[in-house]
Amino acid sequence: MIRTRFAPSPTGYLHIGGARTALYAWAFARKHGGQFILRVEDTDKERSSEESVQAILDSMSWLGLDYDEGPIFQMDRLTRYREVAESLIAAGKAYWCYTTPDELTAMREAQRFAGLKPRYNGEWRPENALGKIPPEGIKPVLRFRNPDRGDVVWDDLVKGKITVSNEELDDFILLRGDGIPTYNFGVVVDDHDMKLTHVIRGDDHVNNTPRQINVYQALNFEIPFFGHVPMILGSDGERLSKRHGAVSVTQYRDEGFLPDALLNYLARLGWSHGDDEVFTKDQLVQWFDLEHVSRSPAQFDAVKLNWTNGEHIKLVSNEVLAEIIRKTCVSSAIQWKDGPDLPPLVALLKDRATSIHELVTSTLVFFQDIKISEEDRAKFLTLEIKPVIEAFASALREVDWDRASIGGSIKNTLKEFKIKMPQLAMPLRLLLTGQTQTPAIDAVIELIGRERVLSRLETGLSSI
Ligand code: GLU
Repeated sequence: MIRTRFAPSPTGYLHIGGARTALYAWAFARKHGGQFILRVEDTDKERSSEESVQAILDSMSWLGLDYDEGPIFQMDRLTRYREVAESLIAAGKAYWCYTTPDELTAMREAQRFAGLKPRYNGEWRPENALGKIPPEGIKPVLRFRNPDRGDVVWDDLVKGKITVSNEELDDFILLRGDGIPTYNFGVVVDDHDMKLTHVIRGDDHVNNTPRQINVYQALNFEIPFFGHVPMILGSDGERLSKRHGAVSVTQYRDEGFLPDALLNYLARLGWSHGDDEVFTKDQLVQWFDLEHVSRSPAQFDAVKLNWTNGEHIKLVSNEVLAEIIRKTCVSSAIQWKDGPDLPPLVALLKDRATSIHELVTSTLVFFQDIKISEEDRAKFLTLEIKPVIEAFASALREVDWDRASIGGSIKNTLKEFKIKMPQLAMPLRLLLTGQTQTPAIDAVIELIGRERVLSRLETGLSSI
């Protein structure tokens, strides 16, 4: 069975690059009827926090990236890493190293000075340390005895064949002085123990993969498939970061994006299925493959994300949108006044919105006190138009309350006063909503309801 995972380090919010990696791993598992596991890599005690764990869990749940196992925390597995480390020592593939951090710095400086690549010099390798007495009071680190020769080769599912010479790799640390594993060691033990078949992650880890493969081999563990997904860049071509604006998943949630729209956008950013731009989560699961993940970095495009969000808003039913709007208003303490029925109002407004917030704003217009700017008042609410509105208001008192009949009354009024549609529609929009742009005015009038329309017209007329 195919098993993939997402293995974030809880050192901050879940950013959209991480979310996209999670999405690809999730979609790959779901497509193949496999399983998806969430593992929290919390071994960096200084930088990990409870809040970050919570932000990751909240973001995953908001995005609907469900996992079959987890969250599994690395800090709960220290005994297991120790046990695997012991087996490596026993096999002569790992050794205790007593070089102090100061000595390491001096070593690197000397190497640089000599024009060499800075690296650990292997002084505590078993073959070099014969008869050497470990210094007192120094907590050793455990190092991996990396093979000296040969190449590490793997067929990356995204990038193709990658070859790295062992001469490029030094004896990296497996366990720190405090017994906590390094990323490169913990990840191998976990990916093996959790029976992961495919490791899908950001390509900032390509350099780590040959080290990890060597550890797999030293332990006789089966090597999983690797797929390294290119980074997301900002519009300036630099790696996407805070300075490019919103990068955390929760911020998009708070700004009124739909989770499926963000997923759609992120999936498409660096992966393609023909010309399809707008698709559902189910379609993504049906279509997803690693062959069509791009080998080059993707550029984040806020305009396209907004557009994708707008397209998804159109796909959501009016009832569901109405519910989202209600909830948004409750959570932002916006007071509802008595107003038109929400689902039909949403039906009128949703085609124009690119975010839930825009939709909320345009919806609220129908519930709030009307505010008309002085400029609009001077331009549209003239003394000439006053009798026209009065006549239209009395027609509305009698008319059957449906869009077609209201439209009929508008036409009659236009004919009677020999004016054109905008001359009547603009003042009506202003008096009824305070806005100069609304959906079709007959539909707006129908939704606001006879009593409210008449009272707004009356209030408005008295101020002309
Ligand atoms: N904790 C690592 C990170 O957040 C995970 C890398 C991996 O997926 O192996 O970058």
